[in-house]
Amino acid sequence: MKRIGVLTSGGDSPGMNAAVRSVVRCGLDRGLEVYGIYRGYEGLLDAELKQMDRGDVGDILQRGGTILKTARSKRFRTEEGIKRAMNVLNTFDIDGLVVIGGDGSMRGGLELSKRGIPVMGIPGTIDNDLAYTDYTIGFDTAVTTVLDAISKLRDTSSAHERVVIVEVMGRRCGDIALYAGLTGGAEEVLVPELPYDIKALSRRIIESANRGKQHHIIIKAEGVDISTAELAHDIQENTGRETKEVVLSYLQRGGSPTMRDRLLATLCGSKAVELLAQESASKAIGTVDGRIFAEDLGDALKETRELNEDLYSLIGVLSK
Ligand code: ATP
Repeated sequence: MKRIGVLTSGGDSPGMNAAVRSVVRCGLDRGLEVYGIYRGYEGLLDAELKQMDRGDVGDILQRGGTILKTARSKRFRTEEGIKRAMNVLNTFDIDGLVVIGGDGSMRGGLELSKRGIPVMGIPGTIDNDLAYTDYTIGFDTAVTTVLDAISKLRDTSSAHERVVIVEVMGRRCGDIALYAGLTGGAEEVLVPELPYDIKALSRRIIESANRGKQHHIIIKAEGVDISTAELAHDIQENTGRETKEVVLSYLQRGGSPTMRDRLLATLCGSKAVELLAQESASKAIGTVDGRIFAEDLGDALKETRELNEDLYSLIGVLSK
């Protein structure tokens, strides 16, 4: 293995830059040439790539977003697109690829892998929706951003004795809501994986207000099948308490990565290069029980993610 490529794909997440830096510098340290591919698979199709040196990844460790830019590519998903991508990789003599992104990006990597190029997948997504790894890069930062918002909303919510609904990201995976709810002391958490009961929720709000609770914070993942405005309206009708909604949206994607995200990104980058240098077959890299771990890429993508219902129950115990 002499020359490797690295790209970021799908939604950006804080820590992607730390992963790119690690891949480039660890690769150079092992005597590899490293090409940065811009705008994910879209840029690969257009051969937007550049040989990277150590200086190209200087001063990016602490920055959110991705210096390589990211994109979603429809063209890549066609047979013609995959062939074109393989052509570009062959033309530039790239013998191994590191893909930093979420589930879709890794599936794209698997398609390339099936056509003969080893691909190392690094889990870069705020959603924490990849089953094979305990955490994804960017999740910790996103939850930290939500916690900051919860703290601020708690102040104003207590002052006015209001109910506040905070809508967080997570279309299919409720982990941001779950972890932010648990560690932010929310009273209720609504996730797409579990059913909810607005009447029971409204009763709990009334009962806890009667016990003297001054605020009531509800964290709702965006993928829950009721709009946040509708939920706010229903709760206000049922409880008679003023109910406000806050949609955090893209705020959750930005910001400087936390120590945990930088560490995970740095270690995954180093592992990806180590595996490519050893001529390993394609792998998904992640963390399990605190250790960096690599599993066959295809097998990793077959696993299905389940919500941690123990954590979910604990929220109910703690918020009574
Ligand atoms: P996030 O979790 O932040 O949304 P993601 O990596 O899951 O990130 P996607 O938009 O699903 O984001 O995927 C990124 C790109 O990967 C797509 O635009 C497409 O080019 C490619 N891709 C996704 N799924 C596949 C697939 N099954 N086969 C080939 N390529 C795919």
